[in-house]
Amino acid sequence: MRYETVIGLEVHIELLTETKIFCSCPTEFGGEPNTHVCPVCLGLPGTLPTLNKKAVELSVRAGLAAGCEITPISRFDRKNYFYPDLPKAYQISQLYLPLCRNGSVTLDSGKIIRIKEMHMEEDAGKLMHSPDDNHTLIDCNRCGVPLLEIVSEPDMRSAEEAVEYLEKLRELMRFAGVSDCRMQEGSLRADINLSVRPEGQTELGTRTEMKNLNSFRAAERAIKSESARQISLIENGENIIQETRRWDENKDATYAMRSKENAQDYRYFPEPDIPPIELTDEYLDGVRAAQPELAEEKRARYQAEYGLPEYDAGQITAQ
Ligand code: ADP
Ligand code: MG
Ligand code: ZN
Repeated sequence: MRYETVIGLEVHIELLTETKIFCSCPTEFGGEPNTHVCPVCLGLPGTLPTLNKKAVELSVRAGLAAGCEITPISRFDRKNYFYPDLPKAYQISQLYLPLCRNGSVTLDSGKIIRIKEMHMEEDAGKLMHSPDDNHTLIDCNRCGVPLLEIVSEPDMRSAEEAVEYLEKLRELMRFAGVSDCRMQEGSLRADINLSVRPEGQTELGTRTEMKNLNSFRAAERAIKSESARQISLIENGENIIQETRRWDENKDATYAMRSKENAQDYRYFPEPDIPPIELTDEYLDGVRAAQPELAEEKRARYQAEYGLPEYDAGQITAQ
């Protein structure tokens, strides 16, 4: 029997704003732990969030760069869960009315990878576990850094396609001035949803989700390893469990982290502290007019205006 691998990606990018999404703390990477914080991003009782206009503008730019429809009236929702890196015990995100929908990224082969939606949300803090497992430290500097989560449809069929999609998406977001997309610093993070199915079958198989891939190479290896693991389970007559798995770089294998939660588990409800975001046609026209030239357009222009070969135009626009 031959199997087909099916992959959908959830990519988080940090938006290039100077301040956080709901307060005036700096978003700058690093800094002494817990120095880029205030009562709002620490989630102290009685504080209120104020939406950062620039975060909305950059998200609209991201959506336009990937050919999305921009939702004229969108909203934030509250996603409830407890984890030590989330002092408020909820994350402000967008579930019901994401800002951008129905975009795409085109691979070199001409294949189109559909983007289901892009929604804004706030980042959580960082946990640092001590090597002896005796204690864990919490750094809240990253709490409230604006993120855009870009959700693809399950349109990729190999590690190579997934990596190319990530490269193309990174190029789009960099040229649009939306994010620096540095995987090492965590300003681009990819979660990989993967299932396998017998070739020719139309329904999707049960998927697992892999988190914390911090390089394209890790993503590629994780996909190959997880796809082989699922195929061998099926061949042995066993079931795939829908769960979140973590990629272990050193062992070249994934291991179970937790069973997958459903949207219901988070008790989402409309965020009462932030009014809906209403974007007028005038506003959208303004953002569209100020959109920087994207890599693809630059390459075409260099070839047309200066007669450069495709390869050279590609080299010049690589960064
Ligand atoms: P959730 O809200 O549980 O994360 P979504 O429906 O939003 O689930 O899907 C999350 C990601 O998983 C999307 O990128 C989607 O393309 C991908 N995905 C969904 N079903 C499958 C599947 N059976 N195989 C591979 N990827 C999938
Ligand atoms: Mg998800
Ligand atoms: Zn703050």
